[in-house]
Amino acid sequence: MIEKIKIYNTLTKQKESFKPLIKNHVGMYVCGPTVYGDPHLGHARPAITFDVVFRYLKHTGYKVRYVRNITDAGHLENDADEGEDKISKKARLEQLEPMEVVQFYTISYHKAMEELNCLPPSIEPRATGHIIEQIEMVKKILENGFAYEVNNSIYLDVNKYNKKYPYGILSGRSLENTLEGTRELDGQSEKRNQVDFAIWKKATPEHIMRWPSPWGDGFPGWHMECSAMSEKYLGKTFDIHGGGMDLVFPHHEAEIAQSNACNDCNPVTYWMHNNMVTVDGKKMGKSLGNFINLEEFFTGKHKKLEKPYSPMTIRFFILQAHYRSTIDFSNDALKAAEKGFSKLMTGIETLEKLTPSKKSSFNIADLEKRCSTAMNDDFNTPVLIAHLFDGIRMINSTKDGRESIDAADLQKLKALYKTFTRDILGLMSTKKTSGNNLTNEVMDLVLKLRKSAKSNKDFTSADLIRDELNKLNIEIRDGRSGSDWTLKN
Ligand code: ZN
Repeated sequence: MIEKIKIYNTLTKQKESFKPLIKNHVGMYVCGPTVYGDPHLGHARPAITFDVVFRYLKHTGYKVRYVRNITDAGHLENDADEGEDKISKKARLEQLEPMEVVQFYTISYHKAMEELNCLPPSIEPRATGHIIEQIEMVKKILENGFAYEVNNSIYLDVNKYNKKYPYGILSGRSLENTLEGTRELDGQSEKRNQVDFAIWKKATPEHIMRWPSPWGDGFPGWHMECSAMSEKYLGKTFDIHGGGMDLVFPHHEAEIAQSNACNDCNPVTYWMHNNMVTVDGKKMGKSLGNFINLEEFFTGKHKKLEKPYSPMTIRFFILQAHYRSTIDFSNDALKAAEKGFSKLMTGIETLEKLTPSKKSSFNIADLEKRCSTAMNDDFNTPVLIAHLFDGIRMINSTKDGRESIDAADLQKLKALYKTFTRDILGLMSTKKTSGNNLTNEVMDLVLKLRKSAKSNKDFTSADLIRDELNKLNIEIRDGRSGSDWTLKN
């Protein structure tokens, strides 16, 4: 069953009914990381946002091809046309091969994504693996007359482009106010016009990441890889292109221009952008001392953090806000999210243990409809979470005997929480994500031994087990139906 989904389109500035180009199939491209540093919140938010889009589209019956790239060349400092490549700079400073830097940070990115329970994309192409495709695209843009060559570099001629295609349709910037925002030409620049941007750059002798091309040794402009790789894997036009709001200009605006200049068609139907994250009300920045990477959140090893926060707390916190709203990270907000997440998970555990009655006071169909409606409304995860908490209140009342649920409804309700919490929001109990099967089996054994000690009135041993586990950050909770354990955050 395919639901009617509405998506806010950055291009048209309104919510539109989602209609893919090919029935039941969705092509989605999301700009991935430039792998030259530790994964941080700025990586987590788009990854989680589009992971939920990916999961929900699949859940509603679409076959989705999700492409998220790895930028491993061509991204210069300050996102500019001049300067050092971010990756080779890191390599130079640390005396490594650029590909060692790429390998190291690609692995840490994947590890963080796995911890955050983001599904891997269908294809994860790299810029350096698609140099030929990028050169071909540059050649076509030149042939079509929308670019020019100066000193072995190729620039897109924005003024000429703007005569045929409106430039700035995504960011809403006109050519004039784009000009105002760009730095004055310092006399060094070889560009004809300030607004022009490099689609291929000549490599200076010290530039080590270089490839042969019809224009001599060089490297692709940063925006070129996404145009070339999205076309290769999704076609000249495709359904959804995502990324952070900071990429709207110049990166995505440039992608639109490159595709039009090359293929004479607009590449994307729906442009989706997640909003930014701040820390304690301020933009994240290395110089501001509020730059916290994901590993530091998970371990609590950063002076701004009062304690560690589990990957699921971070995920829940991000999903508690709509993807188009800003999010501010603070210890108080994270502690509140941790509490909320734990309440949701405990509610689901309670649901698993409920015993059915003859009568049911639940309206599962209504709850399900409200959950779907929230997701269909531009992936409104905070509203979905609020509905899931409504259900948890009913579950807790049922446990206390104030409400009742029959066997059929109980099955439906369990399926609803599995679908919306685990499959769509990608939230899992910390116990499941932190422990492997062996851990779970060993813990079952430990709990059995403790139960046996208690029934033999050996409370010293029972307490010793509890206290020693506590030192290992494992909390034992004794309930009426037995004992359970969780990892403390
Ligand atoms: Zn991109």
